[in-house]
Amino acid sequence: MRVGITLACTECKSRNYTTEKNKKNNPERIEFKKYCPVCKTHTLHRETK
Ligand SMILES: [Zn+2]
Repeated sequence: MRVGITLACTECKSRNYTTEKNKKNNPERIEFKKYCPVCKTHTLHRETK
């Protein structure tokens, strides 16, 4: 059930992280607060395709 996903900064749309999620536990798009090297600060990163 684990799938690879990409996390993109919601501010600059830069794709900064890849991770995995459990599709059963998180069927919806997930969001993480992570450091964005483009924005040079912590921003909300959202799952993208
Ligand atoms: Zn950013």
